[in-house]
Amino acid sequence: MVSTRNSRFVGTLICSMLIVVMVAWPAHAREVRVVAEGTRHATPLYVIRGERPGPAVLVVGGIHGDEEAGYLAARIVAEFTVAAGTLLVLPDANRLAIAASRRAAPGARDLNREFPTAAGGRPRSALAGSIWDLVDEFEVEWLLDLHEGFDFYLNPDTDSVGQTIIYYPASPRTRRMAEIALERLNEGIDAPRHRFTLLEFPVPGSLARAAGQYRNVHAYIFETSARQHRTTRVRQQLLFVDTLLEELGLLP
Ligand SMILES: [Zn+2]
Repeated sequence: MVSTRNSRFVGTLICSMLIVVMVAWPAHAREVRVVAEGTRHATPLYVIRGERPGPAVLVVGGIHGDEEAGYLAARIVAEFTVAAGTLLVLPDANRLAIAASRRAAPGARDLNREFPTAAGGRPRSALAGSIWDLVDEFEVEWLLDLHEGFDFYLNPDTDSVGQTIIYYPASPRTRRMAEIALERLNEGIDAPRHRFTLLEFPVPGSLARAAGQYRNVHAYIFETSARQHRTTRVRQQLLFVDTLLEELGLLP
């Protein structure tokens, strides 16, 4: 008798817990989709929705396969939950380039030169087209594209863009948000050469340039420096994403 009552109690308890979990965690809160489905570039997109209304933010990693801090950080961001808005994460945008640890996928061109360079222009590859379509489908308002440079921008001996936030000046708010992130990033950096710098105008053909110029998206290319320890680079990538998500009210 005792064991039957106990097992009934346990059954009731489990049912109650399941109901609580289902109510607190709506089925639509997290969805995994496939971008470039059915092709050799097929790669997961994480769609994470908050309960309250808010902007759609797209975080992209791995457009260049040899810039590991970007995709390592984006894979962590893919596990986030949000309280408001929609967080879209494409951590391994260029899966074949990542597998090869190269800037471009074997036999392919630089993905970040394949996005539209004119109003009404079309992307130059099927993979770029699949990524570009996300901007319209989800009405993306903010785009954070995570990259790395080979050196430090403030090293006068190189032309690297490592340690920069490159934004398209779609509106004063785009720059204001970059300034907030810049301040937080530089707070923890002592060596002058390692500090972050704000730059305008992502290169034509890049996802950030196309989104900023032709869709009025607040768009950034974020670049750490490959000359730093990987832990530092991933931490800086996450600090950049965190700061923007927090300022935009997405984080719980
Ligand atoms: Zn890059």
